[in-house]
Amino acid sequence: MSAARVVASLPALARSDGWAATKKNRAFTIVHGDGQVDVSIVEQHKVGHLIFYFAVCPACGHMARDLVERDGKLGCRSCLRVLHPDQALSGSKWNRLVVRPARQLARIDERLQRRDLDRNHRRRLRRRRQRLLRQVEEELAQRQLDVVAKLAAIGFPLYGAG
Ligand SMILES: [Zn+2]
Repeated sequence: MSAARVVASLPALARSDGWAATKKNRAFTIVHGDGQVDVSIVEQHKVGHLIFYFAVCPACGHMARDLVERDGKLGCRSCLRVLHPDQALSGSKWNRLVVRPARQLARIDERLQRRDLDRNHRRRLRRRRQRLLRQVEEELAQRQLDVVAKLAAIGFPLYGAG
């Protein structure tokens, strides 16, 4: 079994020049073997200003951050069984530091929509919202660094690294 190669990464795609058009089309094309494969994009988890984009895996239909190629097959980490170093190990921390605060943020945003909140209540909610948002963003940024460092440590070919 050969090493897996990331052929499309949504975070990298989202930073690219063509992203506005890609987002509008809700799809992008990747070259695979002798042909091309059209991949759909879905938008998920609108929390504050955090929007997550996923590719729909052309092989299994799951939502995936990255599409990978291994032994000539195109798919996602799940169906090609390419391990994501951080995921399985820290599920509870993920829930505590990302999922739970993200849900709290969604509820706060709902409450802030209401017109009958008094000013102090609104201010408290806003402060709490800022705190939660910072916490989620910091944890996500830290995880991204951890994943990149772990992948680099095992010699995994990272996207953008040629
Ligand atoms: Zn898949």
